[in-house]
Amino acid sequence: MGISVKILGSSAASFAYNRHHTSQIIEVDNKHFMIDCGESTQLQAKKYHVKLSKINHILISHLHGDHYYGLIGLLSTMHLYGRKHPLSLIGPPGLSEIITIQLKHSRTVFNFPIELTEWKEDVQELLIDLPKLTIKSIPMKHSIPCAGFLFEEKPNLRRLNKTHLNETLNPSEIKQLKAGIDVIHEDGSIKYLNQKFTLPPRKHHSYAFCSDTKYHKDLVKWIKGVDLLYHEATFMEDMKERASLTYHTTAAQAGQMATAAEVGKLIVGHFSTRYKDLNPLLKEVQAEFENARLALEGYIFELNE
Ligand SMILES: [Zn+2]
Ligand SMILES: [Zn+2]
Repeated sequence: MGISVKILGSSAASFAYNRHHTSQIIEVDNKHFMIDCGESTQLQAKKYHVKLSKINHILISHLHGDHYYGLIGLLSTMHLYGRKHPLSLIGPPGLSEIITIQLKHSRTVFNFPIELTEWKEDVQELLIDLPKLTIKSIPMKHSIPCAGFLFEEKPNLRRLNKTHLNETLNPSEIKQLKAGIDVIHEDGSIKYLNQKFTLPPRKHHSYAFCSDTKYHKDLVKWIKGVDLLYHEATFMEDMKERASLTYHTTAAQAGQMATAAEVGKLIVGHFSTRYKDLNPLLKEVQAEFENARLALEGYIFELNE
């Protein structure tokens, strides 16, 4: 298992220098999740070989256009391609009304059901609970209701140590060993000692996507110790005041957040159109937190052992 994050777009506000609006594809256990769907996400998905039919969950961080203006177009394309299987759509309060009104006035009924969930503002909620993964919301501090998303793999089971296993185990014995339990004979003696016949579980990973937000220390408690953090870095530190006024973060602040939250690795994105060359911005982040990268389009960040 593992988590992979593919960047489709990382530009704030409008397009610039061939950078497009926010969108990412997260893959965990062969399941594909889209986070945000700015304008041109469909084209970016095509360019970077994303199969729309494989996406079963779309998560929207907030209703600023640069994060969801591509959504109705993407849903329409899924409909035109003949999609029949359900799509789970998770977004802010108001998203249901927007989708309903767009479909009403275009007299469109999609071929596939949409299961729409609106998250609640300012609280952390469990949004998705799958056998191997949970996704929770992370409250952001932005000019309108906004959430980030925390992907956490569930702890893995112990692995069978094949070098010590010469005999065939029955399903119940395998289950017990993987759960960390010794297998016992009917007379109470030990048949398979767990420590001998199993190996420790593989590491489970976590990824936090922090969308548009003002720098605020409360965020630390939601993202503490994640393996990979995506954080917005709209401006550089000389624009700190403007960042605060517009509820955004500077590159230095994104680095400080990664340090305070003791994350493994940082990706920064949501770049202002004022920056053609992003290297000075990356240097500013790395002065605060060394293990940082830019969210460049087409890049894939992998978390696996
Ligand atoms: Zn934005
Ligand atoms: Zn915004």
